[in-house]
Amino acid sequence: MLKHIITTKCNKNCSYCITKNVKNKDFNFDNDCDKVMPLYHKLSKEHKQIVITGGEPTEHNNWYAFLTYASMAFKEVCITTQNESVLSNSIVPLAAKSIVFSIHNQDFKKFKINIDIPVYAAILAEQYIPGMEKVLKKNGFSGLTINEEQRNGKSFTKKINPLKGFSIKSNSSTTQISLPFPPTTSDSRR
Ligand code: SF4
Repeated sequence: MLKHIITTKCNKNCSYCITKNVKNKDFNFDNDCDKVMPLYHKLSKEHKQIVITGGEPTEHNNWYAFLTYASMAFKEVCITTQNESVLSNSIVPLAAKSIVFSIHNQDFKKFKINIDIPVYAAILAEQYIPGMEKVLKKNGFSGLTINEEQRNGKSFTKKINPLKGFSIKSNSSTTQISLPFPPTTSDSRR
């Protein structure tokens, strides 16, 4: 899965974030935008999917332009975000095929999805609450991605019963999962 970290900036400061250690200069869109499309087109010869990510990608002034450009080159474009406003932004589905929404430590029950593309919730393994997948599905999410805290060496071993029409994915080698396309986002804690 190809990922484009368009910014490492983020309005949050999670202790477990590893993106803040990524040495990545923000892409200067104003100066370099003519390089984006050729690059995306070149990469799209080998990759069908791309994830626009961060940091918090919407912290980049040109985040939507990246999405649009990506959609012109790649078959499937996903954006990972913890910015709730993306979930009701009607132009996002014009460019992205799916959203991975990082819930982090927020109350997962409060998010109701009403956008025309699949939205996958993402949590850290320690935030998993048995049964939360049923609530998320009821609230319109298409799936749940469970990311292990890889630095503490613990594996996510809980068994989650499959839910029809709802994908569950974990980056653990010990948990059984299925899914069509929610991209794996483990290395950005998303
Ligand atoms: S984990 Fe995500 S939300 Fe938290 S600081 Fe890192 S990029 Fe921001």
